Amino acid sequence: MTVTHALDNAPNAQATIIDGKAFAETLRKDVAIGARAFREKRGRAPGLAVVLVGSDPASQVYVRTKMKNALESGIDSFPHLLERDTSETQLLSLIDKLNNDRYVHGILVQLPLPEHIDESKVIAAIDPAKDVDGFHPVNVGLLGQGRAKLIPCTPLGCLMMLKDQLGDLGGKKAVIVGRSNIVGKPMANLLLQENCTVTIVHSRTRDLNNECRQADILVVAIGRAEFIDATAIKPGAIVVDVGINRVEKNGAPLLVGDVDFNSARNVAAAITPVPGGVGPMTVACLMKNTLAAAEAIESDAAVRF
Ligand code: NDP
Repeated sequence: MTVTHALDNAPNAQATIIDGKAFAETLRKDVAIGARAFREKRGRAPGLAVVLVGSDPASQVYVRTKMKNALESGIDSFPHLLERDTSETQLLSLIDKLNNDRYVHGILVQLPLPEHIDESKVIAAIDPAKDVDGFHPVNVGLLGQGRAKLIPCTPLGCLMMLKDQLGDLGGKKAVIVGRSNIVGKPMANLLLQENCTVTIVHSRTRDLNNECRQADILVVAIGRAEFIDATAIKPGAIVVDVGINRVEKNGAPLLVGDVDFNSARNVAAAITPVPGGVGPMTVACLMKNTLAAAEAIESDAAVRF
């Protein structure tokens, strides 16, 4: 969250740093207020089941962060930490149990899953009403039709920060680097709904730098450390760096984005840092989605009973 209006910055001034950590903190507080009201009305907190298969160190960190955020947001979390050799059938049976558990309003399966488990089958088994990651085909379809209910957390967090910077996004030229199902494609749909003119570029795009240089809004999600530098950025653009890459610099481990931050900040009007940009917003949006799912499920239940 920042106080300056990004496009007011003169090109070549140092970019405004978009503070995703502070933004996420504010969002978490809002969710906590909603969660408290939910608890007072329903007699229980919104509940989030977090499923981790195996012991990948990065995934373990993500799961711990999500549970800590849930606690801070007034959301009950139910961890399910499964052995790496858990079978697909066992995992699907757990999902079925969680789908029918009235204390669970959101189900998050930490990806990637071990190779012997079909990820798409597991995602499709989650009740779309509890799909707080927004990856179920029903939620993907609703987003595509402009009728989204649960929106994937990372693009949602990016959109919130962009709107905070720019207000109305209508008419802006947005370029998204990367076309994954969890970031690039839903980001494109969201920006299209905000009336941006949207281009998606990927590994087969010709003259990628030239495409990127057209962007008022540049969202980068490719998983290549510091791949996009100032030569690919239009002066005055807003740059959202989704990438998280673990590298070594001067013998020390370091997290960097997909954007070369030090070069980009001399050209962009505003930029998200890594760490402290998109990452914290992704987790806060997961809490926002869990509260939204809880409210929707319980109000539907009230109608049904
Ligand atoms: P994927 O690997 O699923 O997709 C990467 C995309 O980038 C693909 O579309 C690929 O193109 C494209 N790409 C790869 N290399 C190039 C290249 N040299 N030039 C142009 N395009 C390229 O990645 P994700 O979307 O899952 O993640 C992207 C990054 O974002 C990762 O660093 C990940 O860790 C991070 N991430 C961060 C999150 C957060 O909360 N901050 C959440 C999710 C992801 P093609 O399709 O042609 O192969």
